[in-house]
Parts: sequence; structure tokens; C-alpha cells
Amino acid sequence: MCNTLSSEQVSQNATDRGEPASPADPSLVADLVTANHILFDQGVVDAFGHASVRHDKDPERFLLARNMAPGQVTAEDIVEFHLDGTPVNAAGRRIYLERFIHGEIYRARPDIMAVVHSHSHSIVPLSVVKGRPLRAIFHMAGFIGEGAPVFEIRDVAGTGTDLLIRNNELGAALAKHFDSHSIVLMRGHGSTLVAQSLKQAVYRSVYAELNARYQMDAMRLGEVTYLTAEEADASVRNVEPQMQRPWALWKEAAEARRASRS
Ligand code: MN
Repeated sequence: MCNTLSSEQVSQNATDRGEPASPADPSLVADLVTANHILFDQGVVDAFGHASVRHDKDPERFLLARNMAPGQVTAEDIVEFHLDGTPVNAAGRRIYLERFIHGEIYRARPDIMAVVHSHSHSIVPLSVVKGRPLRAIFHMAGFIGEGAPVFEIRDVAGTGTDLLIRNNELGAALAKHFDSHSIVLMRGHGSTLVAQSLKQAVYRSVYAELNARYQMDAMRLGEVTYLTAEEADASVRNVEPQMQRPWALWKEAAEARRASRS
């Protein structure tokens, strides 16, 4: 057996189907580009991971970059997809294999407008330790609540997968976990989280990673006091409305570092 990862294992070409919807609001596309850059600059994604947003003109479609590192995405790299993961205008460009994560969540949760999937560093350990769920430990991460569920791909696809969400069936199985949760860990893989907007999704992505890091630091020190469900809810209501403040800061930092790279 060859252990080299072929490009087919992490990306795909797929035939376009259908006509593009009315063009998405340019500011939405610009925000999706910015979200990609912030997620890289803040250490949530590296060369892998992706962010999407539901199309503002057609709720049965979503926008996601073509297969590339998030930190390098431009407006020209944004592709429109049907909820089943079929591209509309990829025009032969390679697309993310795990796009089914996004489409199946948008299908299952009509209220969700943005999705981020990542393998952020501090989340992965908590995805593999039994009985120690990711759980809100500070007010910036109340959306995590009293414990994030862990998606176990073996329950759906057996013990021999590559852990990737590579079809609609796996995407739908993952999407079920979002019934009453905003973030779901994926065992041995990473996490996916949902939000009502791109800015909220980026905010949550950064603070989910921080919560995971702080939680593991605290667990090493002793018994941990977590937020109650009521504290978590109150924190979401009162802290998340300020998400514009970190967005503006993170955007400026990401674009400054991006300019210094080019
Ligand atoms: Mn992944």
C-alpha cells in the first residue's frame, strides 16, 4: 500500500450543475474572504480547514472557497454550491472534499448562516479523550455550553475511514449533532461550528480554540469550575453582540500580515 496522500484524497474535481444564482452581495463575498484570512491569522486554520456562508439570494446554496489554503483566498476563489455539495461555477477548479459538512448543516438547520470547520490545535486532544468534553469555562465562550458532543465517525462508517466527511451521508450524520449545539467535535479530526453570521462564526472559532486551551491548562491544575447553562446563555446574550470589535481588530491584523507576506 502506498501511504502518500494523493490529491484525490483531500480534494475533488466535480462537474458543475445549474446556473449561478443572482450574484451574492459583494460585501458578503468580501466578508467571506476576510473570514478566511482571520481564521488563518488567528491560528484556527492552517493550510486546511474552511469557512462558508449561506448565499444571500438563494438559501438553497452556499459560498465556499475552492480547494486552497484559507490564508490565500481572494474573491475570485469563492465558488457557489448547491446544498448537496455539487458546485455551480467551479469551472474545473478543485474543490474541498469536505464541502458536505457545510451543505448538510445548511440543509438541516435553515437558521444557520455560516459554518467553520477546522482542526485547531487545542480542540483535537479534547476530541479523543473520553468523558472530558469541551465545555465553556469562561464568558467569551458561552456558546459551547455544558459540553460539546463528539461526532464518532466509526458509528456511521466503521473503523477504517480516513476520518474525512467525504459524502452526503457522513455530512448528514454530523449535521444531526447540531440540533441543540453550536459546536461539535469530530473524534481524531477537529471540530465544526455554526453561527447566524460570518462574524459570529469567526468569533466563535477563535474563542472555541482559546476555551479548549484554557480548559486543558485548568484540568492540569485541578478540579475545574465550568459555567452553568444559565451563565453560558447569559454570556452569549451579552458578550457576542460585541463581536464587531474583535472582527475589526483581527481583520486589520490579518490584512497587515498578509500585505507583509506579498
Ligand atoms: Mn477536516
